[in-house]
Amino acid sequence: MDLRFKEIPQMNEIIKLFDYPKHTVKEISNEIIEKYRQKILTTDESFSKDDIINDIEKALLDHSSYSLVNTINATGVILHTNLGRAVLSKNAIDRIIDIAKSYSNLEYNIDKGKRGSRYTHLVDTIKKITNCEDAIIVNNNAAAVFLILNTFCKDKDVIISRGELVEIGDSFRISEIMKQSGANLIEVGATNRTHLIDYENAITEDTSAIIKVHTSNYKIMGFSEEVLANELKDITDEKNLYLFEDLGSGSLIDYSEYGLSYERTVQKCIEDGVDLVSFSCDKMIGASQGGIICGKKELIAKIKKNQLLRAFRVGKLTLAAVEATLISYLDEKNAKKEIPTARMISLSKDEIKEKADKLYNMLNDIKGIDIKIEESRSKVGGGAYPIDTLYSLSIAIYDKDLDKLEKHLRLSKYHIISTVHDDKLYLDVRTIFEDEFEKIKEVLIDYYE
Ligand SMILES: *Cc1c(COP(=O)(O)O)cnc(C)c1O
Repeated sequence: MDLRFKEIPQMNEIIKLFDYPKHTVKEISNEIIEKYRQKILTTDESFSKDDIINDIEKALLDHSSYSLVNTINATGVILHTNLGRAVLSKNAIDRIIDIAKSYSNLEYNIDKGKRGSRYTHLVDTIKKITNCEDAIIVNNNAAAVFLILNTFCKDKDVIISRGELVEIGDSFRISEIMKQSGANLIEVGATNRTHLIDYENAITEDTSAIIKVHTSNYKIMGFSEEVLANELKDITDEKNLYLFEDLGSGSLIDYSEYGLSYERTVQKCIEDGVDLVSFSCDKMIGASQGGIICGKKELIAKIKKNQLLRAFRVGKLTLAAVEATLISYLDEKNAKKEIPTARMISLSKDEIKEKADKLYNMLNDIKGIDIKIEESRSKVGGGAYPIDTLYSLSIAIYDKDLDKLEKHLRLSKYHIISTVHDDKLYLDVRTIFEDEFEKIKEVLIDYYE
């Protein structure tokens, strides 16, 4: 018999060595031991019992490491859905930590000394920003849309334009979510054109609402027509119907001065007299996952009575993050300084150039690296501004094996996510934070030197 078999430890012996659950130790040890058995059968390599035990220990450590980890977003896509959408502001992060650290008044009315409601916390701030009568927050915008329709349109007709049957990421269709709410969707118009008369003709006694859905991740151009909420308002008023709007990304700032096209803001929806408008908290707002509904006070009151609200409610950490983020919007200048999403969108050309020069100079010292600063186009992402791009600059890396380089960056301990095209690897500086430059350098030194 090959003497190396003697080095393979007994399972009982291994289990005693580690404090992990037995089934985990067994499973992992069996895998490692199998590798050593194969080694004996196919090679002359020598090893000791300690080598095997060390390998098991390493595998156990790997096994207990985090699954959700930080990445460096060098793609230039600001709200990268796969990379966690919005990065929180420092205020939001500090508030999460503060609120998490001790008890809070989540559902306690401090003035009265009795039970309060978690839904009171954001209302004043949202009112100040948007001039709405009332607001409520739920787990995400999909839940917000569902809850609106379930509360007001169950077993009734809701009119929607065929041009607005949006499919968001991972093949989720807003219209399917709407149907699940119990509302009966009445599609009107053609994909490219819907007229006021189409809505008017579809109204029957069973109609309860008209809903406008922001097309988010696509745009219908060319021979196209849509009816805006303010035009629909006259009909819904006359026929006593609700007018709802799913704004999707829901910006609180008009970014048209930064090279993006004009998008309706939440404020504009309220000004137009929409009864309820809903939007995501982790898209253009730049906070954590959540969905806000704002509009008429009596309608929000009805939503609060819907039993399903409980299934969609947010936790205190979400409230902490969203409240802190919204407070920045009380002064638009603060929002653009403090909220990373707003900051990245509003970076000037000079600021982009400064970032690119700085990263270039840091990386250009690396022996054997071949880089240039090249113009690139950043995207907002997250299903917002589907056709607009923003001027940006990238560090373009020339390398004989770009796939290997891309993989090295991605699998490094900082998980740098880059893009490869036109025979270069690109690091778009718009979405890279300056405190990540040093990390990128470290990983590239490891590759080249
Ligand atoms: C993104 C989006 C949603 C879903 O929002 P989540 O917060 O991701 O649930 C719904 N409607 C539209 C139009 C969207 O763009």
